[in-house]
Amino acid sequence: MKVTFPHMGNMYICLKALLTSLGVEVVVPPMPSQKTLTLGTQHSPEFACLPLKINMGNFIEAYEQGADTILMAGGIGPCRFGYYAQVEREILEDMGLKMNMVVLEPPQKHLSELLINIRKVTGNRSWVDIVRAIRFAWYKARAVDEVEEILHRIRPREFEPGSADAVYKKALKWIDDAPDRKELKKAVEAARLELDAIPIDREREVVRIGIVGEIYVMLEPFVNLEVERQLGRLGVEVERSIYLSEWINDHLFMGLLNIKGSKEARKLAPPYVNHFVGGHGQETIGSTVLFANRKYDGVIQVQPFTCMPEIVAESIIPTVSRDLGIPTFCLIVDEHSGDAGVLTRLEAFVDLLERKKEKSAVPESTEKKGEQVCLDI
Ligand code: SF4
Repeated sequence: MKVTFPHMGNMYICLKALLTSLGVEVVVPPMPSQKTLTLGTQHSPEFACLPLKINMGNFIEAYEQGADTILMAGGIGPCRFGYYAQVEREILEDMGLKMNMVVLEPPQKHLSELLINIRKVTGNRSWVDIVRAIRFAWYKARAVDEVEEILHRIRPREFEPGSADAVYKKALKWIDDAPDRKELKKAVEAARLELDAIPIDREREVVRIGIVGEIYVMLEPFVNLEVERQLGRLGVEVERSIYLSEWINDHLFMGLLNIKGSKEARKLAPPYVNHFVGGHGQETIGSTVLFANRKYDGVIQVQPFTCMPEIVAESIIPTVSRDLGIPTFCLIVDEHSGDAGVLTRLEAFVDLLERKKEKSAVPESTEKKGEQVCLDI
């Protein structure tokens, strides 16, 4: 059995660690590229949301490299994610590509539901081995997130653009290659030291933007057109509303681990959204409130074209923006999106935030109080 999975940001590092430590042969699909997108778009329904198209491209490319089994996350609720695995299986069958699909549905009552599903690809490995492998994969997710959070702080302040990204690229490789916890700790420490050694302008006043929206687009840089890197280059410090390890905890571990996750965002969503609307729609609203409460300069909502939960959130965000005085910007991506157009719009938004920040630094007597800006480009 040669197992593959779809890409979602740095998730491949965790899944590879999980499977290889259980002795499963893994085929990591090539990183998402224009070829992946073209293949996926060619073989997916036109109205499907973008993540499904990228998944399809990943599977076709992995099949070409010998994969015969797909490990895929499942979903529940009023959005299309719950149907992804079934639709993808049918498309692959129609194409004549023989691949088994194992779906890791989010456990409803007990974590053992997840373990049973994992055993479908690991054979009769002991439960102890499986739990140990999950823990190791989880630590890899934490390691990646830790390094990313430092990266987000350094990027807008570095004197030499690209220095932090170069270290980040190396750090991902170190984390990916680490065979055990001890080496993993060393990899994170080495990354931290190298990032801390990058010369930065500590006095620089940076704009702070919170990124909210659909999880796949938030985590996958190819799909979000590297919005975080682009913003970093524009002198913006970004913070994502949810990081990979938090999503894994929320989605697959039933939120059992005591880390940030989406709990607070869900609490802050009412009265704007009082119930689950599928995907991360409710969290998008709650996180926008959270960033406003934390005095962030702006919020960017990212979503794939036709994403149902995010369309709901998008229609509510202007009200949140007006009520709490936080400028917002909505970035919608599909297979036709291009870097240049997005960069121009990001520059306009950042420019607006910088001017607003400068104005609010002017002494109160000359400044209008309570000015609110809502920019939805
Ligand atoms: S959350 Fe949006 S993009 Fe993701 S599967 Fe649901 S509708 Fe599609």
